[in-house]
Amino acid sequence: MIFAANWKMNGNIKFLNSILAQIKQDIIPYLADNSKIIVCPPSVYLSQAKLICHNTSIEIGAQDCSSQENGAFTGEVSANMLSDVGSEWVILGHSERRQYHSENNDLLHKKMLLAKLAGLKVILCIGETHDQHANNKTKDILAEQLSIICESDLNNLEYIIAYEPIWAIGTGLTPKLEEIDEIHQFIKSFLFEKTRLKSKVQVLYGGSVNPENANQIKSLITVDGVLVGGASLSAEKFKQICM
Ligand code: PEP
Repeated sequence: MIFAANWKMNGNIKFLNSILAQIKQDIIPYLADNSKIIVCPPSVYLSQAKLICHNTSIEIGAQDCSSQENGAFTGEVSANMLSDVGSEWVILGHSERRQYHSENNDLLHKKMLLAKLAGLKVILCIGETHDQHANNKTKDILAEQLSIICESDLNNLEYIIAYEPIWAIGTGLTPKLEEIDEIHQFIKSFLFEKTRLKSKVQVLYGGSVNPENANQIKSLITVDGVLVGGASLSAEKFKQICM
């Protein structure tokens, strides 16, 4: 089971030092053998996070990368730079990036290619809006978002999918368990058929995962882990989700 923590634009050095110490001491020794933790802090804290997690099983991820390789792109951080400071993963296509930065498949394709070339593994986030969900459009939307993975130049990219219904992010709402199960099955079958995968892709569920609902969500056979936003900012809550 994969437990990915998306801290978004939260925290500071003091928070980072304290929560990573708690994850190392209170979660890692008790984590099931087949489980792993990926922590995704803001990019300015990646080096420090890597330093603290050196010699532990905690993997470090970034929350985004530039669609450009390098050059005059003020404020951007390249995939190579993320890898250079010790990131093993990068989250791409988070709904907040799609919504606030108009990220679409063309842009994400460029980012994914650069992530691949930099040796980063990708957590590709996909999900539908409330209206799309209500109008039974979820699978169409997800198929469209997943279609970039089928691009031939992304062969050999190491990736996992995070299914994050937009209406569930930060709202306290979650789909019914049967819905999560059905959608995860759909994602796995879609990618198995459309790509040259030898085994089914791992799919995380994300959106209002908390200590109260985590066990039920984790019990679904199609759920390979969870991507946790708000609750990952509390070591205690994150621990309860991971245990
Ligand atoms: C997220 O934004 O990736 C997320 C899962 O957020 P939350 O857990 O706060 O809903």
